[in-house]
Amino acid sequence: MGLEEERSGRLRLRFWGVRGSYPTPGAGTVRVGGNSVCMEVRAGRLCLAFDAGTGLIGLGRQLVQERTRGTVHIFLSHYHHDHIEGLRFFQPVYDRRWHTVVYGPSLPRARVDRVLSRSMAPPFFPVSLEELPGRVELRPLKSGSTIRLASPSPVQVLTRLSTAHPKLGVAIYRIEGNGGAVVYATDIESARGGFADVVELARGADVLVHDAQYTEDEYRDALRSRVGWGHSTVAMACEVARAAAVKLLVLYHHDPSHSDRLMRVLEQDARKRFRSTIVAREGLELTVE
Ligand SMILES: [Zn+2]
Ligand SMILES: [Zn+2]
Repeated sequence: MGLEEERSGRLRLRFWGVRGSYPTPGAGTVRVGGNSVCMEVRAGRLCLAFDAGTGLIGLGRQLVQERTRGTVHIFLSHYHHDHIEGLRFFQPVYDRRWHTVVYGPSLPRARVDRVLSRSMAPPFFPVSLEELPGRVELRPLKSGSTIRLASPSPVQVLTRLSTAHPKLGVAIYRIEGNGGAVVYATDIESARGGFADVVELARGADVLVHDAQYTEDEYRDALRSRVGWGHSTVAMACEVARAAAVKLLVLYHHDPSHSDRLMRVLEQDARKRFRSTIVAREGLELTVE
């Protein structure tokens, strides 16, 4: 990263993991990638990560190579395993010079501090949160809360809790900085035309990262319907993008069974519904101009 980029404050995205449900290494997923979900947003010297799937492990390696010390802000959408499993192997939490702030939504019976102190402790993991050498701070988020950060130009993260993920709900985020806006909306099952709260948060965004786990056929499969599972089809994501008039739609949280070949077909189909659509793949970088 150049000094000029650091000074500009532009929002820069990098996808470290794009797979939903569980990691999928293998010959059929080399192009799109097999790590579970994690999206990085940089603005100046600020480093934010959205979700902590196994993709977060690669980001951690990159950070400790880049700098000897620093702070990283991780925003969790919810607490399903594919969104937290990378945190246990995130290098900054094992380094006393690093400060990791983890924000997570307060959902029914699930607060970030309680969930993580249970999942990162014996018998699930040998090291407990308190034993980690790095400084780890856990911050519960309420719907409507805005986190303001600056380095050097201001960045804000708006939080909305949505019931678009069944049972416990999910947090969706809008990141604003340097005049640009990115919306992160995964593990949501968008209704026809999109839920009003999701469309509202995404309105006019430069980039909308939206769950697109299923094809229409999978979603409505007569024997194994995915209705009510908390994920969208590619067509639903396109409808939200259109309703919110975003500039670019990024399809995200790909189903583990979807091969690189199928993803190419889905991308082409999606562009017939919403022209400015791309499939998220590991290593993809985008800059919000
Ligand atoms: Zn998920
Ligand atoms: Zn989920």
